[in-house]
Amino acid sequence: MSLFLYNTLTRRKEVFTPADPARVTMYVCGPTVYSYAHIGNARPAVVFDVLYRLLRRRYPQVVYARNVTDIDDKINAAATAQKVAINDITTKFTGIYRADMAALGVLPPTIEPFATDHVPQIIAMIQALLAKNHAYVAEGHVLFHVPSYAAYGRLSGRDRDDMIAGARVEVAPYKKDPADFVLWKPSTPDLPGWDSPWGRGRPGWHIECSSMIETHLGNTIDIHGGGHDLIFPHHENEIAQGTCAHDGAAYCRVWMHNGFLTMDREKMSKSLGNIALVHDILQSAPGEAIRWALLTAHYRQPLDWSDDLVTQSKRTLDGLYRTLEAADPTADRSASPPEAVIAALDDDLNTPIAMAELAGLAKAINQSSDAAERKRLAADLKAGGEMLGVLQQSPAVWFTTVSAGKTIDAATVESLIAARAAARKARDFAEADRLRQQLAELGVTIEDRAGGTTWRVAG
Ligand code: AMP
Ligand code: ZN
Repeated sequence: MSLFLYNTLTRRKEVFTPADPARVTMYVCGPTVYSYAHIGNARPAVVFDVLYRLLRRRYPQVVYARNVTDIDDKINAAATAQKVAINDITTKFTGIYRADMAALGVLPPTIEPFATDHVPQIIAMIQALLAKNHAYVAEGHVLFHVPSYAAYGRLSGRDRDDMIAGARVEVAPYKKDPADFVLWKPSTPDLPGWDSPWGRGRPGWHIECSSMIETHLGNTIDIHGGGHDLIFPHHENEIAQGTCAHDGAAYCRVWMHNGFLTMDREKMSKSLGNIALVHDILQSAPGEAIRWALLTAHYRQPLDWSDDLVTQSKRTLDGLYRTLEAADPTADRSASPPEAVIAALDDDLNTPIAMAELAGLAKAINQSSDAAERKRLAADLKAGGEMLGVLQQSPAVWFTTVSAGKTIDAATVESLIAARAAARKARDFAEADRLRQQLAELGVTIEDRAGGTTWRVAG
């Protein structure tokens, strides 16, 4: 079956056909590392991680680049406010971002380029745009001249007035056209800067991405992703730069944008202040439950975040792990994931349907009394889970995980259970009750079965 993806550029679902099936290229705009990532920032990382997993099954080589924006005015402002070096801010928050994404089961991309490592390439691309008369120099700035690219506005479908209003661009006197945007700007001595043919300065945000794409992936890429807010002006500008620098070669074949994560139906954003940080949520919930929560809505739909959503997600995973534990606690994934799970994801990453398929598999396992069949289905469940980046731990590990990085000490639990069994045998029921209470305080629920007492993390 074919993989269908919704293309923002053509506004329809299309069969995905890479330019070169031997080397599929994908780029996703990564974090600006000036602060902690909020859970809305994690949505594109998780969504495109699912796509990366799906593409890797289909194609022998997938080159996935997710950049780190480490040149940005917000970073400069944070460094000034905290009285530390810019590098301290970017190094700290790059590390935190990587750790947070790893906790959400996001695979490292093939390449993680940093803007600061690409300044010579950025300068070269700006020079190419100048040479082709798509850009001009004015008062130490280099600007892209929007009227020089007739197809400008096609991705966002905006008309000219909308674009000027939407970009909130400064109407600087040195601009030939109000829609023109910055490729290079001068830096004062207190700001980071690089020598260039136009004096000491720093690149604009849009050219950073275009240049990293050109450097690592080529002139035309297969897939470009990011959040919906990046369509305009960021991606519109990327297209203009890339296409004009490469004499009209298509910049990207398929554009994909995730919908917003909201809180009380309002877009989560640092500027509105209605944010929940990944780092904080991980203190009280396993990364896998947070990941599941992020995938419960189709990626193009809005997703309203709440504590309840995470609690529900954890409960659902508890049920799936319980099924695995009962059917085959050491199950390894089967050679290929269930067709129905792949079919759901092939339909423009329909994760809610894929999740329903996993639930269906769990139900079939629970209803079957044939041990061999239960084991086979458990292996299928694990393989299906892997496509979504879940269910890859052993049930024993899952049930001892109360939150990321924090586990209940199994040896302590086992010794309390043994002490309780001894107390019951000696008919000291008060002591047995006290031990049960102690286990409950640790966050453990016990169950007395014919073969002995089992336990799990209460949830
Ligand atoms: P930033 O670090 O602000 O450049 O954003 C990193 C990524 O997160 C971009 O792809 C944004 O489009 C995306 N993003 C930011 N806020 C949200 C949100 N509330 N919901 C979904 N995606 C978002
Ligand atoms: Zn970008």
